[in-house]
Formats: sequence, structure tokens, C-alpha cells
Amino acid sequence: ITIQISQIQETKILLTPQQQHYLLRVLRLQDGDKFIAMDGMGKWWLTHLKGETGEILELLEVKTELPVSITLMVALPKGNGFDDVVRCCTELGVTCIVPVLSDRTLINPSPQKLERWRRIAAEAAEQSERAFVPTILEPVAFSTAVNASAANQRYKRYICEARGNYPHLTKVLNNLSGEIVGENIGENIGEIVIATGPEGGWTDKEIEMAIKAKFQPVSLGCRILRAVTAPIVALSLITAACEA
Ligand code: SAM
Repeated sequence: ITIQISQIQETKILLTPQQQHYLLRVLRLQDGDKFIAMDGMGKWWLTHLKGETGEILELLEVKTELPVSITLMVALPKGNGFDDVVRCCTELGVTCIVPVLSDRTLINPSPQKLERWRRIAAEAAEQSERAFVPTILEPVAFSTAVNASAANQRYKRYICEARGNYPHLTKVLNNLSGEIVGENIGENIGEIVIATGPEGGWTDKEIEMAIKAKFQPVSLGCRILRAVTAPIVALSLITAACEA
């Protein structure tokens, strides 16, 4: 979770009413929960929530972080496939992963699974020398995740759809790259939300809902990728657009 701040008083970060609403009500963060505060000029701080403000814990060295924040919404795949999604996408630089329950998702995972995914993310972040560990949110209904992201005007939103004649993600990112990649971290920061579907694919209703919330449908190529492969490919393409 990355929040761009406008006011800082010594170690205290003042949050706007919109930011308080987003952190406390939409994401349901609690005292002590961590988020990243940035000033848009290259400084990133690890911060934790204290009442309705943020308290700075440390200044982050961000050499391994992408100059863009990426939230990945993944319809939960069967079995332990989500472990691989969390591990690989953390290595690739994801900021936040939202496990979503879609119309064709059969499972509702146990709290132990969430703990496991958070552990996997922490381990992968450590091995990749990331400046911070991505946030893994509690599983939510796809409609809830879509509506929460629609509240943030800064997000550029994409939904991967295997059917239909949609533009390739790489093409879409190339058109954007001047906008999302600054010469210095913090400059022209962008925020991307990208969603990938379950084994059975998204329903028409879900695609319509996402389009209404300003998600642009994109293709990842002519071949149908497994539900576990698609988010990793999407992340790889975004990383390449940012770093190449
Ligand atoms: N039979 C399903 C369908 O036709 O939608 C296939 C679903 S696929 C196994 C799982 C998810 O991965 C899809 O919902 C989509 O989000 C993503 N995906 C897989 N291949 C894709 C592609 N070539 N382009 C875009 N998204 C893809």
C-alpha cells in the first residue's frame, strides 16, 4: 500500500480524510499495520498506522523497487497454485496482492493460508533484496476489490481476458511508459491495478463490471495461459516496461 503524502511533521505523517477512509475503512488497516508513505520526490518511508496518522519507522533505500506501484488482483486458483503466484510476483516487484473470489472460484481459503502467503512473500522479498514486503490482503469478492480500486483516481486499471480481441498488455504499457516511468524513483510515479481470472475464466458479468469501473481489458498473447501463469506473465511484462 503506497500513499503519497502532502504533510509531514517530524516523524508524523498527516493523512487526508480520503487517505484515512482508504486505509481504515476500505483496506481495514489497524494500529501498527504498515504502509509506505512517499513524498513523490524520491523519498519513501516505512510507516505504520497510529490512530488517524502515520508514524515513520524508517527511511527506505529503494534501489530494488520499481518506479511504479502494482496491485495484482488474482482470482484464487485451485490447490497450492497461489503460493507460486505470491513467490514469483514478489520477486518481480509487485506491491500488493489481492486474492479475489470470483463467480467461478470454488474455494474460500482458511486464515492459515493467508498467513502462509504472507510468509512466502516475506521470504521472497528477502531473497530478492526488496526494500519492502508486498502486502497480501485478505481474500475479498471480486466486486469489492473492483469497487475499492475504483475509489483511487490515480490507478490505471487492467483486466486480463483470454477471449476477445483486446490490445496486448505490452502495447498498452508502451503507450504509457513515458507516463509511468520517471528518471528518478518518485518522479511520475504511476499506480497500476491488474486483474487475472480463475481456471474457468471471468464471467461476462464480471468483465462488464470491471469495464464499468474503468478497467481496460488486455491480452497476454494468443495462447491461453494457466490461471497461475497469467499473473506472473502480466507482472513480467510490467516489470520489463519499467526497467528495459
Ligand atoms: N477458458 C478460460 C477463458 O476462456 O477465459 C481460460 C481462463 S485462463 C486459464 C485464466 C485467466 O488467465 C483468464 O481469466 C485471464 O485472466 C488470464 N489469461 C490466460 N491467458 C490469457 C491471455 N492469452 N490473455 C489475457 N489473459 C489471459
